[in-house]
Amino acid sequence: MDPRERVFTTIMRILRGLSVDRLLQILSSTKPFIEYFKGFEKAGAVKQIFGERTESVLQSLRVELTPLGGYMRVSGADGHLIVSSRYLNNGDRIDIYLDVIHELVHVSQFMNGKELFDVHYGYTERPTEVEAYRHAVEEARRLGLSDQRICQYLKTEWMSVNDLRRLAKILNVDCGQTA
Ligand SMILES: [Zn+2]
Repeated sequence: MDPRERVFTTIMRILRGLSVDRLLQILSSTKPFIEYFKGFEKAGAVKQIFGERTESVLQSLRVELTPLGGYMRVSGADGHLIVSSRYLNNGDRIDIYLDVIHELVHVSQFMNGKELFDVHYGYTERPTEVEAYRHAVEEARRLGLSDQRICQYLKTEWMSVNDLRRLAKILNVDCGQTA
């Protein structure tokens, strides 16, 4: 091995050890949150989540667009936001807005060291989910959405009727005949 190759190999080993390559990979495939989502720092619901840190948190938050399906989620590895590009382009604007509120609660939970995907709970019972839904529903009410519309928002394809019923009850949303 010639000296230059030796140096290169050593550098690569150090980079791998520090996971710098992974960090660079994330930075290159993500964009700042504020490039996709404008004005969220002014929303009362968001200030309620982050308080005085609202602007600095949103400024450093990164968003990864994925061509894969789904809606939105927070990376359990580093707390960045992962958004389906199809959902962002075609989803209902109000649903997307409420989802961002929901996910920002998860960002805050991640920053506070909470376990986002605690498998000891079902999805609709997990304390981190209930807290995120509470913020979203509160904001939905502030926007003047009816219980029927909020219920429609809560309903997802991976939620059983019983799950929806339980979640609606916890959140005090009247789903009427739909749940
Ligand atoms: Zn969630």
